[in-house]
Amino acid sequence: MLDRFNRKINYLRISVTDRCNLRCHYCMPAEGLCMLKHEDILTFEEIQQIVAVSVPLGIDKIRLTGGEPLVRKDIVALVGMIAEVPGVKDIAMTTNGILLEKFANPLYEAGLHRVNISLDTVNPDKFREVTRGGDIQKVFRGIEAAKKAGLSPVKINCVIQSTADESDAMAVKHYCRQHDLEARFIKQMDLQAGEFGIVDGGTGGDCRNCNRLRLTSDGKMKPCLFSDLEFDVRELGIQKAIELALGHKPEKGSINLKNCFHNIGG
Ligand code: SAM
Ligand code: SF4
Repeated sequence: MLDRFNRKINYLRISVTDRCNLRCHYCMPAEGLCMLKHEDILTFEEIQQIVAVSVPLGIDKIRLTGGEPLVRKDIVALVGMIAEVPGVKDIAMTTNGILLEKFANPLYEAGLHRVNISLDTVNPDKFREVTRGGDIQKVFRGIEAAKKAGLSPVKINCVIQSTADESDAMAVKHYCRQHDLEARFIKQMDLQAGEFGIVDGGTGGDCRNCNRLRLTSDGKMKPCLFSDLEFDVRELGIQKAIELALGHKPEKGSINLKNCFHNIGG
């Protein structure tokens, strides 16, 4: 499907939960976070139905994100349900990797093609600090498990402060070279301030070539990460919500006062 600016939209990023087992300082506050109610979260059947309606409209790439998608109960079953929808060509996931050692194989078996794993530093102490308590060894084991399972490519998402020449980013680049991984560097963004940048090595942040719609875990179809606009699939119906999101996709991102990274998915 084409939007008003002739961009081909074929990519749907689905946030499957607003919960997470880490607390990265640029994404979530340490505590006091207001979480969605369980009954507001889309069921697997609803998500599968949304995918089934979006494919004939032109969506063929799906990415599962969050929050942390691997903390959603029975996530492997959801991947299987999405893989069953005819016309879905590519299923990817963005994860912090903490639980990936256990899930990599079953996810691959269920139909997941590839993963992006977030890793901002290879220093265990710095990682614990950035994520407020995360164990980097689990991520390293998750990365190896993903490669072994056949998920390909395995990409590393590294959030940087200003340039990819920072020492942590350089060390991540080196680690990726050694381990045959693709690195993507993402400048730390502020949704509320409208500060966003191009993803080095990826396609995000480049408004002219944007190809995506986003779905929040409580069923809001969003035309853009940097926009307050959203269309509720439960209120409007799936097709109408997609059409409205497509029709209102802005030429360029501006600000988003409604969402945070942990509930829209980065
Ligand atoms: N929990 C998973 C993870 O961390 O990969 C998936 C969700 S997370 C919100 C998706 C991506 O958004 C991650 O790569 C994360 O580093 C990135 N992210 C979170 N907050 C960000 C921010 N303020 N600026 C730029 N990227 C951010
Ligand atoms: Fe959790 Fe991912 Fe946000 Fe970190 S970036 S707090 S891992 S959702």
